[in-house]
Amino acid sequence: MRAVELIITPPEPHFVGDGFRVHTFIPSSFRVDMHRMNPFIMLDYNSKHFFEPSDNPRGVGVHPHRGFETVTIAYKGRVAHHDSSGGGGVIGEGDVQWMTAASGVLHKEYHEESFSKKGGWFQMVQLWVNLPSMYKMSTPKYQAIKNSEMTNIAIGNSGSFIELIAGEFQEIKGPADTFSPVHISNAKLKNGERVTYTFPKHYNTALIVIEGEMMINGKQVGTDHFVLMSNNDEQFDFKATSDSVVLVLSGEPINEPIAAHGPFVMNSRDELVQAFRDFEAGKFGYLAD
Ligand code: MN
Repeated sequence: MRAVELIITPPEPHFVGDGFRVHTFIPSSFRVDMHRMNPFIMLDYNSKHFFEPSDNPRGVGVHPHRGFETVTIAYKGRVAHHDSSGGGGVIGEGDVQWMTAASGVLHKEYHEESFSKKGGWFQMVQLWVNLPSMYKMSTPKYQAIKNSEMTNIAIGNSGSFIELIAGEFQEIKGPADTFSPVHISNAKLKNGERVTYTFPKHYNTALIVIEGEMMINGKQVGTDHFVLMSNNDEQFDFKATSDSVVLVLSGEPINEPIAAHGPFVMNSRDELVQAFRDFEAGKFGYLAD
C-alpha cells in the first residue's frame, strides 16, 4: 500500500486579487516544491469562505500565462472567466474550467456578477498543470466541464461515488482532454464508505479533504488538510468517517527542467525571457479590463 508521506494543515491564507482567499499547498513547505507534485506545479485552495455582497465583482484582473494549464474546480460559489483567445464562461457549484494557456493568453477571473451582488459561500481549487515541452507553445484551448458531464462511478451501495474529471478510474475515462497522464477526481463518500485507488507507483499523488473527514493508513485527516502520498506502491485506500468529499490528484511526472517565474512556466531561462518579451510586445493578444 502507498504510505502517507506528509499531512499538511492549511497554511495561512492570502488573497489573490481581492476575490480568492487561498491556502497555497503547492509549493508549500520545503517538502512539497514544484517538482515533488509535478505535473501539478501549483495549487491554491480557497477553503470555504463567506464573501459579503458586493456590486463590484471581486477577483483578479487581466494577467498573462504561458506554458501550462490552469484548472479551476468550483465547490461553492460562481466564477466568471474571460481570456484573449476567446475562451470564457461561468462555472458554478461542481463545475470545472480547464484553460490550456500553452503559447500564451491573457485572462481575468472574477466572481460571477449575480453571485457577487448576493454574496455567499465560496470554495474553489485552482491548480496549475504543467505541459510537456512539445505542447508549451501550442494553441491555447478552453474546456468548460459542467458537473453533469463528469463521469460518476458508484462505490458500494451507500450512494457514494467517484466523480471523475480527468484520467481514469477502473478503466473508465473522465471528460477532460489532457496532454500528459493526469487523474483528477472527487471521491464523494457517505460516512463509513471506503474507496481504493490504484495509480502507477511513480505518479505523484495527493489528496485534499474538501468536506468532512477521513481515515487513511490509520491516520485521521480533517477538513481542508492536504495529504501527500508516498511513491512506494501503487494502491491506497481511505475511509470516510463522516459524509466527505476528497479531491484526488495523481499524475505522471514530466521529467523535464522547470523554469518558472510569475505567470510563466517554461523549460529554460531563455524561454522565460522570451515569454516576458512576447508579453511586453503584445503577442498574448488583447483583453479589456
Ligand atoms: Mn490566472
